[in-house]
Amino acid sequence: MKIVIQKFGGTSVSTHERREQVVNKILKAKDKGFCPVVVVSAMGRKGQPYATDTLLSLIKEDFKLKNPLGVDLLMSCGEIISTIVLADELLRKGLKAVPLTGGQAGIITDDNYNNASILKVKKERLLNLVNQGKIPIVAGFQGISENGYVTTLGRGGSDVTASILGVALNSEVIEIYTDVDGIMTADPGIVSEAFLIEQISYNEVFQFADQGAKVIHPRAVKIAMSGNIPLVVKNTLNNCKGTIITNSVIGESDEIINGITSMDNRVQVTVNYDESNKIYNTLLEKLANNSISIDLINVFPSKQIFTIDSKDIDKFKVIAKNLELVYSLIENCSKIALIGSGMRGIPGVMARILKILHEEGIEVLQTADSHTTIWCLVKSSEMGKAINALHKEFLSHVK
Ligand code: ASP
Ligand code: MG
Repeated sequence: MKIVIQKFGGTSVSTHERREQVVNKILKAKDKGFCPVVVVSAMGRKGQPYATDTLLSLIKEDFKLKNPLGVDLLMSCGEIISTIVLADELLRKGLKAVPLTGGQAGIITDDNYNNASILKVKKERLLNLVNQGKIPIVAGFQGISENGYVTTLGRGGSDVTASILGVALNSEVIEIYTDVDGIMTADPGIVSEAFLIEQISYNEVFQFADQGAKVIHPRAVKIAMSGNIPLVVKNTLNNCKGTIITNSVIGESDEIINGITSMDNRVQVTVNYDESNKIYNTLLEKLANNSISIDLINVFPSKQIFTIDSKDIDKFKVIAKNLELVYSLIENCSKIALIGSGMRGIPGVMARILKILHEEGIEVLQTADSHTTIWCLVKSSEMGKAINALHKEFLSHVK
């Protein structure tokens, strides 16, 4: 039995016309001899009646804080509605589809409401349905705790559902259908020359997803990688091949950089030490205790530099005041990530990046690097110019 997981995002299931395309993709998989297990997101985006953000707007902030269990129950409704609407469309084509909540599909989680972790998948029901020739339509982004309460897996979590089911059912492939052709070398809204990446490794995509590209949830990439199940990101509305994500990229490209992504709303923090004030040592601990995530962290004998998200700036200021820190901030920064496992061991990559940015008159506020990624912090107002120049330098010859 060859199982394929087909996950359809919110825009793919948002209208009858689009759902007809979804039905076509499911029929195609069946024609090829696959047994599809379908995962769906909530229909549409904010403003549309059953989208997750629309459901969340029905309740007050105070309720959200005091009743995380209720919030998860509310959010889970969007995906549940999608399963039934899609099952209805499939039935009209003569296909036997069975709509299921995450819990009914056997997804058992911890009770960390709003961001639950999956503990196990009881796969018997899904396998039984598939064996009977039925198509399970599973509500993404949700599970059930061991105590029987509905939980959700964190925003964008339907991708996580797809990957966890792919691994549990040992599917041939996990297909993530969305409204773009796949993973692009850069955001086409920023770089008009951006083009589709046909093959890429889990590690690189994880970096893409983790560093701001919104095309797939980073946790979904990690899970698929753990089971070595190929992931494909595709467009519901056309027959483009999409981006294939595996461990070994066949005919691995010689490119140093495979793509560029960015994250805005970063604030660069510089904290200067004062020998008399030893409390500085505890700063990072205090930030962690207040759930403030930091990155691009550089610790020097006389200062520390790191970035935080702008949403955390008020919390940071309170901590800084309590610790009597001497610090400065640069707000409205963007962190650009250049990703490519081909950069490993190649000398001169950073030199090229800095040369290009210098020629464009762009100030680099900070850098960091790993085996697969080089990060540059720039002012957000210069981010578009910087990404375009870097894309031209590293990727224009590929196409
Ligand atoms: N509907 C959920 C969200 O908007 C999950 C998903 O779409 O993947 O976050
Ligand atoms: Mg998504």
